Amino acid sequence: MSYFSIAIDGPAGAGKSTIAKQIARRLGFIYVDTGAMYRAMALYFLRRQIDASDNENIEKHCDGINITIEYMDGEQIVLLNGENVNGLIRTEEVGNMASAVSVNKTVRLKLVELQRQLARKNNVIMDGRDIGTYVLPDADLKIYLTASSKVRAMRRYKELKEKGIEADITIIEQDIIERDRRDMNREFAPLRQAEDAIYLDSSDMAIDEVVDYIIGLYNNKKDN
Ligand code: C5P
Repeated sequence: MSYFSIAIDGPAGAGKSTIAKQIARRLGFIYVDTGAMYRAMALYFLRRQIDASDNENIEKHCDGINITIEYMDGEQIVLLNGENVNGLIRTEEVGNMASAVSVNKTVRLKLVELQRQLARKNNVIMDGRDIGTYVLPDADLKIYLTASSKVRAMRRYKELKEKGIEADITIIEQDIIERDRRDMNREFAPLRQAEDAIYLDSSDMAIDEVVDYIIGLYNNKKDN
């Protein structure tokens, strides 16, 4: 049996996870949040106070890190050496560390295998930075979702505010720009639009509009 895969790539805060979750629910696919896997690895290194630039130490620890995922009521749960870390990985600190350590090829290769396995056994919508270009180059539908850095910073700011976390929007925008720069310029599997990906700028689009548009693309593809 062959499975359908949808790849959504794009910069930080473009709305990938919100949109991918809704599409997964509507299509009955599983949602694979690859950023959460990098965040779990980042948490491991932060807990041990390992510097993101200390590649030797990072690579040494990689063998001792086991990332697995489970689904509970449709929600992806990331397990770091058996511990459910979902509640610990959404901070700006972990996000920045994930952006820094994901430059490391050993870290990436460790997670790419897990991501490919999931797509071999399920209909998936997977979001990240290198899904259409590297993880699933044969994905059935590829989207490159972006928005201006101002809009993305505002979305993150509101998200944090809703959680009761105070934040400075200027700093959030600077972090976003820095993350994009790092993701786009790293040597191995950088963030870029795959040649066969559909470019979508969501700056002036509502979530529902983006979701409906992608589901429309899916319906056209699956009938062909
Ligand atoms: O998407 P999210 O913000 O959760 O991802 C955290 C970080 O992990 C990103 O800033 C990016 O550097 C990295 N990442 C990556 N490749 C992916 C997913 C995330 O390099 N496929």
